[in-house]
Amino acid sequence: MADSKTYENEDIIIHWNPDVCIHAGECVRNAKAVFRPKERPWVQMENGSSQEIMNAIDKCPSGALKYEKK
Ligand code: SF4
Repeated sequence: MADSKTYENEDIIIHWNPDVCIHAGECVRNAKAVFRPKERPWVQMENGSSQEIMNAIDKCPSGALKYEKK
């Protein structure tokens, strides 16, 4: 099992587990400037507010994306 990847800004830390992601695209639909699967890194937190990012992660159906507040 691959380790989760982490991304962070000044408010929150995101954990993304590629083994759990089912590529449903909910994250992309809800914050498309932040979640950019064709780019590296695919999570670009500087392109959205922490609230927008948390709202999008709350809709992830698989639990692949999680966040914690700092
Ligand atoms: S919403 Fe969750 S399961 Fe869907 S692509 Fe994003 S991380 Fe993967």
